[in-house]
Amino acid sequence: MADPDTLIVGGGIIGAACARALAATGQRVLLIDAGSKPGAATAASAGMLAPLADTHGQDPLLSLRIRARDLYRELVPALEEETGIEIGLWTDGIVQVAFTAADADRLKGDIAWQRQQGFPVDWLGADELRARCPGISPEALGAHLSPEDGALEPPALIDALIRSATARGATLRRGERVEDVVIEGDRVIAARTAGGRIEAGQVVIAAGCWSGRVGGLPRPLSVEPVRGQMAALEWPPGEPRAIVFADHGYVLTRGGEAIVGSTMEHVGFDASVTNEAINRILTNARRVYPALELAPERRRWAGLRPGTPDGRPIIGCDPQVPNLWYATGHGRNGILLAAITGQIIAALVSGQPVEHNVSPVSPARFWTEP
Ligand SMILES: Cc1cc2nc3c(=O)[nH]c(=O)nc-3n(C[C@H](O)[C@H](O)[C@H](O)COP(=O)(O)OP(=O)(O)OC[C@H]3O[C@@H](n4cnc5c(N)ncnc54)[C@H](O)[C@@H]3O)c2cc1C
Repeated sequence: MADPDTLIVGGGIIGAACARALAATGQRVLLIDAGSKPGAATAASAGMLAPLADTHGQDPLLSLRIRARDLYRELVPALEEETGIEIGLWTDGIVQVAFTAADADRLKGDIAWQRQQGFPVDWLGADELRARCPGISPEALGAHLSPEDGALEPPALIDALIRSATARGATLRRGERVEDVVIEGDRVIAARTAGGRIEAGQVVIAAGCWSGRVGGLPRPLSVEPVRGQMAALEWPPGEPRAIVFADHGYVLTRGGEAIVGSTMEHVGFDASVTNEAINRILTNARRVYPALELAPERRRWAGLRPGTPDGRPIIGCDPQVPNLWYATGHGRNGILLAAITGQIIAALVSGQPVEHNVSPVSPARFWTEP
């Protein structure tokens, strides 16, 4: 391939979404991915699209997160038709269950604020909740319902994005690690792998929690691994499909399984599972859904989310190297935000106006005075 216009470092969901969006603008794109690293976040993810269910209080990213979710209603059918890959988009809503009066008050407060912003969330009383989720604990007092939230299948989405990107001329090199980027003056001019040096017009760092480990960056990147542990149980036969948040954990139905999670652990790049955390997750899930009490456990795993100090992603150019881009730090919301991140990066890199307010995700927020 001739030198790429844009070289993307990292082929998780974020790199894949950026590759497709950039290739669609006519750019020559090269995506380099180190391959199946233990702990890669996308493969470990629950795949929820939960802009409202996973937010409390006045979140500056809420409207971006809503638009990110809604983008999938158009993108998924288009990708499925183009690639033949089923992405499993499900948008029948997420409930956050209250087990105490204090939980119920907090959730009703969220509903009040979210409805003021125009989002159609609602309170379900105990009977309405049980009609929707018959297997839920009889101790549940009610729930916050975000009726348009949902989930999709991250491995299928990534396959479809890569297939669509390559159909638009992008090249994928898997099993190769970018060791460093080469900066001259205020320009990044190349990246180096064990296979040699690759000149590129622009470079996008999308290497998940490993983004800060790419050599040669002009400044330390505020991205750190945040481990999330998960388990899969058999979903009780006859129980309707659901996504339920409660007690700092969640249960979602996917492919005949109950996917239960998760933890938020700062343990460095250690992607192992621990009995203690898995037991806690299972106890929580069985409290929420007593029907899971006897369900056999099928798998357990962990992934490393790319976290940032303020919980918001880092999307945009380096303050002093304007052709070096960051698309990383998506924390708990990387599946939700992948497609919109691709759109934003494609617009920024090709000098087009961005439709969204991206100041809350600006890379400069960590390095310059406000
Ligand atoms: C347990 C768990 C549950 C989650 N649930 C949800 C959810 O329900 N909804 C949601 O929206 N988000 C969820 N997330 C978060 C989401 O999965 C992540 O934010 C997202 O997958 C991050 O994608 P990424 O492409 O940045 O990183 P990754 O998927 O980790 O991909 C990074 C890629 O970069 C490659 N790489 C690293 N270094 C280099 C290098 N030097 N050169 C080349 N390649 C390199 C790696 O091999 C890897 O393939 C969850 C995460 C976890 C762990």
